[in-house]
Amino acid sequence: MRRLRRSKIVATLGPASSSREMIGKLFAAGADVFRINMSHTSHDKMRELVAAIRSVEEDTGRPIGILVDLQGPKLRLGPFADGSAMLEKGTTFTLDADNTPGDIHRAYLPHPEIFLAVEPGHSLLLDDGKVRLTAIEVDRTKIVTRVEVGGKLSDRKGVSVPDSTIPFSALAEKDRSDLEAALDAGIDWVALSFIQRPEDIAEAKKITRGRAAVMAKIEKPQAVTRLSEILDIADSLMVARGDLGVEMPLEKVPGVQKQMTRLSRRAGKPVVVATQMLESMINSPVPTRAEVSDVATAIFEGADAVMLSAESAAGQYPVEAVATMNRIAEEVENDPLYRTIIQGQRGEPEATGADAIADAARQIAETLELSAIICWTSSGATGMRVARERPKPPIVAISPNLATGRKLSLIWGVHCIVAEDAHDQDDMVARASRLAFRDGFAKAGQRVIVVAGVPLGTPGATNMLRIAFVGADSGEDT
Ligand code: PEP
Repeated sequence: MRRLRRSKIVATLGPASSSREMIGKLFAAGADVFRINMSHTSHDKMRELVAAIRSVEEDTGRPIGILVDLQGPKLRLGPFADGSAMLEKGTTFTLDADNTPGDIHRAYLPHPEIFLAVEPGHSLLLDDGKVRLTAIEVDRTKIVTRVEVGGKLSDRKGVSVPDSTIPFSALAEKDRSDLEAALDAGIDWVALSFIQRPEDIAEAKKITRGRAAVMAKIEKPQAVTRLSEILDIADSLMVARGDLGVEMPLEKVPGVQKQMTRLSRRAGKPVVVATQMLESMINSPVPTRAEVSDVATAIFEGADAVMLSAESAAGQYPVEAVATMNRIAEEVENDPLYRTIIQGQRGEPEATGADAIADAARQIAETLELSAIICWTSSGATGMRVARERPKPPIVAISPNLATGRKLSLIWGVHCIVAEDAHDQDDMVARASRLAFRDGFAKAGQRVIVVAGVPLGTPGATNMLRIAFVGADSGEDT
């Protein structure tokens, strides 16, 4: 089974898509990675979903990635005496440390760190930015604000403080326990929400210790200003456009998306474009023209993956949403302009053996019009450096590690096959050709290029290139 596109699809699971049968259908429609959102999932449910995904993986024989998204330090208001309160523009509203229910004059804010971080003039955005306040006076127990945009506030609505850096860890108590449970369940990627600085990623990496790759969700302006430092430590970025569009002016989000995609591509680390990509498909079997164009833009930019949230988790048309993304990606990647646009943003190779080989493999494969670039990769690093080149021929990564195959399911263009390590160089080339033939990447008589590190199994030792013919006997068992 092979996909006919390079960009990958991440589908969030939820009430509309938690059965084994539905997960199988989403995979068949094109989902490469499944996302489990811990804001809405118990540990038991998460383990059930992981087991269902692994069962689909076993049936299909294709490695499938699992991304667990931690809730992060989401700030929330306390309750209101009447369940809600209507705030009027121009009035004064106070957020304080008094844990009694709120009214139209005040509300409890159960996060003492905010009183130390907010300064007069800073904005406070409530309920996804629907209500906007400006701080006028601040002390250790309260923030007196002016209501700039009024509206109805109800119990425990979210609070964003885009101008203030809050001195707390990106891992709340709940996140630590969710992370341990997810690592025990054997997930592949973990996404960190509301990170503000590189130290937040370092903290998570101390816990994951290589057991899962770490994705930094960029949804706060503080993180946008430190993107390259964050990317130095993180394994991947997510353009989390939902909260990003609350914390910064909406019109700035497309520019941040472009900046993040380019930066990640240059670093050779995957970038996922997320949120509201096919939002109208929550209730409609067809998307809007603007949504199709939005998905197409991410694909044209060379993003590794596009993501569905509520469309696949809670919508009426989860399978149709995945199938729609699949069709858009296939169509864009066949567009005559696609290659020129993708090549325009290709970064120069870094001064390493792996990059020199990856660059050479791409050039040779494109010049000789070879059928595929096949890399033997134990940790996945070689596969990722070849993907960084965004080559025209398909990339087939062969790894003895199932965990590598699952991780690579997020990476642009990589079709990963989990197979036993080769015995020697000749075996490596012969088996690479046979596996490429088996999975439909090359026909008998066509040529492929094989990339590997010799001696085998030495991480980071990418040093070999061989052009090989796919023989007429390639259909034999591998
Ligand atoms: C986002 O804000 O865009 C996002 C992906 O995060 P969440 O779905 O957890 O709100």
